[in-house]
Amino acid sequence: MKKLFALVALSLLVFVGCSKGPKQNLNQWMAEDGCLKVLSTTAMVEDVVKQVGGEEIYSLCLIVGDLDPHSYELVKGDDEKLQTADLIFYNGVGLEHGASVRYYLTHDPKAVAVGDTLLERFPDRLVRVDGELDPHIWMDMDLFAEIVDPIVTALSEKDPAKAELFQERGKRVKEQLKAKDRLLRQTMSQVPPEKRFLVTSHDAFHYFTKRYLALEEDPNWEKRVQAPEGLAPDGQMSVFDIQKVTDFLCENQVHVVFPESNVSRDSLRKIVHVCKKKGLDVHVADVPLYGDTMAGVSSYVEMMEHNVNTLKSQMLEGR
Ligand SMILES: [Zn+2]
Repeated sequence: MKKLFALVALSLLVFVGCSKGPKQNLNQWMAEDGCLKVLSTTAMVEDVVKQVGGEEIYSLCLIVGDLDPHSYELVKGDDEKLQTADLIFYNGVGLEHGASVRYYLTHDPKAVAVGDTLLERFPDRLVRVDGELDPHIWMDMDLFAEIVDPIVTALSEKDPAKAELFQERGKRVKEQLKAKDRLLRQTMSQVPPEKRFLVTSHDAFHYFTKRYLALEEDPNWEKRVQAPEGLAPDGQMSVFDIQKVTDFLCENQVHVVFPESNVSRDSLRKIVHVCKKKGLDVHVADVPLYGDTMAGVSSYVEMMEHNVNTLKSQMLEGR
């Protein structure tokens, strides 16, 4: 009888799948049990990968918490994760530009740049800021939903027996993200267009502005967004940067600027100080937005909902 129980328990273990839920750790990752080990560079990419891969994969995220994905460099233990991964998904389109990370990702054949596939498939939807490709693709949920396709393809190639499952799940995930995107747009449309102007710490919200703040097909959508720091937050501001942002605030009668959860508020405080000297009443919003990381929320959808709801209430009431 004991043997029978043991046998049943063992078969349950075999068929329960690889994932043990969200609390996955390095020990599970390192276990040689035949399940795909999938490493994603950012939490936003990992969220989509986990939804498509489900219990069929072990998932890990490389750049965790509030760490800046633009400048992240490999630390002790990262080599092990990268080398033992069966597949690596990264944002691409220039996001992960820390030299050690970039070198590894561009030289490893098992690394898939999901954003680069968007650039090939939807070149007109990729945004450029001052001529430079903008990597913040997750800020347009309808566009980011399209990373499901390269994820399904790569997972299916690695584990062909589960290809059908990945495809079905991928289709569902994509539909859910696109439906959520429509809801986000509806929510944002409740704010009058003349109030939909945005200043954040760095240039992370161009896709967001184009998708959720601008009017449909507006060629001048870029005039609705401004940030003192560039495409990667660096804390550096020239007199020109300060002038550009204060002019923007003045021209559009904007009285609130938005900090980002993982970026210092120093540059925004400086802007507020300069505005005060010019007699313009501007304050830094109490609630930060999620730009490059989502450490305070449990999912990518929650991150975007937080941004939309925070902006909606502040834009309607905060001025
Ligand atoms: Zn950024």
